[in-house]
Amino acid sequence: MSCVIEGKYCHLDYSDFPELQNRAGQLQEYFDIKYPAILRLVGLPFRQRVNICMDKTACGAAKVGDNDIRFNPRCIHVEDKGFLIHEGTHVAQNFQKCSEWLMQAMAEHVRLELGWDNPKCPYQFQPQMIDCSSGLTGQNFRVWADFFKWLTERYANKGDLLVDFTAALKKDPPDNEEGFLTEAFGKPSCQLWMEYVGLRLQ
Ligand SMILES: [Zn+2]
Repeated sequence: MSCVIEGKYCHLDYSDFPELQNRAGQLQEYFDIKYPAILRLVGLPFRQRVNICMDKTACGAAKVGDNDIRFNPRCIHVEDKGFLIHEGTHVAQNFQKCSEWLMQAMAEHVRLELGWDNPKCPYQFQPQMIDCSSGLTGQNFRVWADFFKWLTERYANKGDLLVDFTAALKKDPPDNEEGFLTEAFGKPSCQLWMEYVGLRLQ
């Protein structure tokens, strides 16, 4: 049986879980409200409707391909809707090349701006979450998001960091990420990170 909901900004397939019709409808409505807001925040135009699929073989929430969000509803808490903002940001930006920390930081940043929407697991950043030994790799998403927020505040007199950085990374060919940071802040990511850690752990 094929179970599909045609939304304005998404096409939601819940054929693997026909019993979850209500939840599918709620998520489609949620996505159709949030996706234009995501596009506005990152400064990109609407390209095409996103294929969202409840996939019993998927583990957790994952973006697969250029225009797909596949997730297993059994792996995501029934009250967590905000994960669609995170994954929707990945699909909207669809970078060809971007560091993991930056990609996840932007997606979490957008989610925080538009609504965390997971009452069972509230967002809380604590400086103790920073792992001083591992640089920008191996940090959790909340630390990356806080680092990006800190960069955004430092960039505020120049413009909107999320919009400008997204535009730079969407150019063809994309701007060099470290080149963008050095031009914007006068130093590369590793030095910015050290400065951030020093301030947060003061
Ligand atoms: Zn992600």
